[in-house]
Amino acid sequence: MADLYTINRNTNPCSAMHALNADLHCHSTVSDGTLSPEDLAARASANGVQLWALTDHDEVGGQHRARAAAHVHGMSYLTGSEISVTFANQTVHIVGLGFDADNAALVQGLSDTRNGRERRARDMAADLERVGITGTFEGALKYVGNPDLISRTHFARYMVEIGVCADPHEVFKKYLTEGKPGFVEHRWAKLADAVKWITEAGGIAVIAHPGRYNFTPNEEFALFTEFKNHGGQGVEVVTGSHTVPEYQKYADMAQEFDLLASRGSDFHSPGESHTDLGALPDLPGRVKPVWEALEHRILMP
Ligand code: AMP
Ligand code: MN
Ligand code: MN
Ligand code: MN
Repeated sequence: MADLYTINRNTNPCSAMHALNADLHCHSTVSDGTLSPEDLAARASANGVQLWALTDHDEVGGQHRARAAAHVHGMSYLTGSEISVTFANQTVHIVGLGFDADNAALVQGLSDTRNGRERRARDMAADLERVGITGTFEGALKYVGNPDLISRTHFARYMVEIGVCADPHEVFKKYLTEGKPGFVEHRWAKLADAVKWITEAGGIAVIAHPGRYNFTPNEEFALFTEFKNHGGQGVEVVTGSHTVPEYQKYADMAQEFDLLASRGSDFHSPGESHTDLGALPDLPGRVKPVWEALEHRILMP
């Protein structure tokens, strides 16, 4: 991605465009999505996306393909990844945007973060076996596109296939979340490390879908404060995971903490995701879009 740095600022049509159709959060078969980076790019483009980022969980393995596919469709591209972090005993997701995807420390940090996934998956399968659901490790693997990245989503798809539940959401609710029989405690990356990997690789760190966590107001305040202290600069305001009141709440938080605002569908699969690529409202006018601060990192077609 050498020419990441050779963008001509003066010809960048994305600057100062508040209502740009930017979708800066989605997943491919390189993590827990069901479409290839190429098929996602085609879908994003067909839906009117102008600036796109693929943000696979704990992975940058799809970045070169995603960028090439974006350019085939005339879309501008930002590199991306969604890093799993443990904060206050909960899993928090930090999206990185506009980094150098070949940065050695970032690549190593993501590899370390992925490392425990197979062990965790085997433990999940053993737990599920105790409640009579057998063969889920091998079953989940059938849905895995990247052997380094077995996720709860792959278990959920398999458990729907064998009729344990009607849809993945129900599997999460009954089996794969805290306190349920297939949930295995896991320690992910540290908040400070995730932010550091992203920012030292030239990117911007963004708190993903803050409305999804089960934090008390004090814990949420601590997350935002520590994230800022570590050098984090952005927060997702408009995401497929937020309700309309949450768009307003997190626009307020972006202003209060002087954070840039991001927008992304978190699209995973045509059959599963209720928010399609590019199909979100614009950011509220009072926040500053993260892509304005990433102008020099945008890869033009
Ligand atoms: P993992 O990284 O293996 O813990 O899996 C996390 C992924 O599971 C998230 O990125 C979502 O794609 C998916 N997920 C989490 N909660 C739910 C839910 N309630 N319903 C459907 N998918 C979910
Ligand atoms: Mn996911
Ligand atoms: Mn997430
Ligand atoms: Mn996501």
